[in-house]
Amino acid sequence: MNSDKMQFYNTLTRQKESFSPLNKKEVLFYSCGPTVYNYPHIGNYRAYIFADTLKRVLLYGGYKVKHVMNITDIDDKTIRDAQKESKSLKEFTEFYTEEFYKDIESLNIIKPKKFTKATDYIDEMVDVIQKLIKNGLAYKSEDGSVYFNIKKFPNYGKLSHLVIENQKENASGRITKDEYGKDDVHDFALWKAWDEKDGDVFWETELGKGRPGWHIECSAMSMATLGEQIDIHTGGVDNIFPHHDNEIAQSEGATGVPFVKYWMHNEWVLVDQKKMAKSAKNFYTLRDLIDADIDPLAYRFWLLMANYRTRVNFVWEALEGAETALKRVYNLYNELGTNVGKVNEEYKKKFKAFINDDLDTPRALVVLWDVFKDENISNADKKATVLDFDKVLGLGFDNIKEEKIPEKIKLLILEREKARVDKDFQKSDELRKEINSLGYEVKDTAGGQKISKI
Ligand code: AMP
Ligand code: ZN
Repeated sequence: MNSDKMQFYNTLTRQKESFSPLNKKEVLFYSCGPTVYNYPHIGNYRAYIFADTLKRVLLYGGYKVKHVMNITDIDDKTIRDAQKESKSLKEFTEFYTEEFYKDIESLNIIKPKKFTKATDYIDEMVDVIQKLIKNGLAYKSEDGSVYFNIKKFPNYGKLSHLVIENQKENASGRITKDEYGKDDVHDFALWKAWDEKDGDVFWETELGKGRPGWHIECSAMSMATLGEQIDIHTGGVDNIFPHHDNEIAQSEGATGVPFVKYWMHNEWVLVDQKKMAKSAKNFYTLRDLIDADIDPLAYRFWLLMANYRTRVNFVWEALEGAETALKRVYNLYNELGTNVGKVNEEYKKKFKAFINDDLDTPRALVVLWDVFKDENISNADKKATVLDFDKVLGLGFDNIKEEKIPEKIKLLILEREKARVDKDFQKSDELRKEINSLGYEVKDTAGGQKISKI
């Protein structure tokens, strides 16, 4: 494959397609972001690491990218949990939004050009809903809520490839909840008329007093910030139905033109072979990793070892293994010295061919290891090549954090230094063993002893 050509798997067509953006100058890219009602779990972060890797691949390939990610700060769950904590919706959601921003920084995720908070786009949502009513695709119910009439939209469900005909036949009735499964294919809520469960959360608009449904939020925010037609839209596979099918119905129903060219979705992170989910209570947060003394970038590294379209089963041992491997490449990098030479074009070609082939990060990582192992390349050129690859991998080679070495180990190192000066090699060896037994490895280099976790 030509290393400059990109191809991505498009959920809409169920095949890999060569990538060609609508507008040659800039890729228009929207990612479904977090619902800020709690700390995201690390399964959620797979969606954002995947979107970030995709963006990095596009940038690496020379594209300009306009990337927008939403923050869902109004939906069923944010209202429910803000009330539980007796907090205003704003105060409640702002807290988790800030925590999200901190997390993505520690995962080395490049900030999107724009984060859009749903509550800042209510007028735009009302506007889209009014267009849908005008186009005969939405109707008001008795209580003043507005629903999308799925039978009026040809090809409703085309993204999830539902055996929609049967389901549509049975799909009389309405669904008010934001989240539902394929067994609940119904007319869905675009605007939810206020009821007392919503408390003080409502907007007075031309549609009446109420609040938006979750699905209309992304349609309106994507169109308001990127235009009616975009290149790429991402999310996890559980977003395909109903969220993304509903987005297609809303956006295309309002504008009459195709909404998204490439739909891309990451697979799940599992625990004990079941989807990691808040509701299943089988989740871990980034804080759990940090408490276990694991670098968040080890999680990123672990995910890169699998293709984004395969399911991965989370176990602590695997993550610890990824951390050891990451520390090993960091150490190899640190040993390359300070000079930065030239990027090795042959390895770059191989690396690029893999990442451009639907983000084949596992094979791209093999190329990274090969660069480190190759004895025919100078250290300076290795360094330049690794830094270049890291534009895509985002493992932070340009900013490796000093490992926190426990005081006890530091003392043993000093003692060993002295033994070596005294040429007491037996003692030096014994001290090395002791250091090893405490989980650290010591290497004697020209610059002195180098210490790292085993
Ligand atoms: P939510 O905040 O629930 O809307 O989810 C945020 C993102 O995480 C969405 O793109 C989901 O599809 C994705 N997601 C949720 N659970 C998982 C999981 N276990 N593995 C991978 N992605 C997930
Ligand atoms: Zn969305």
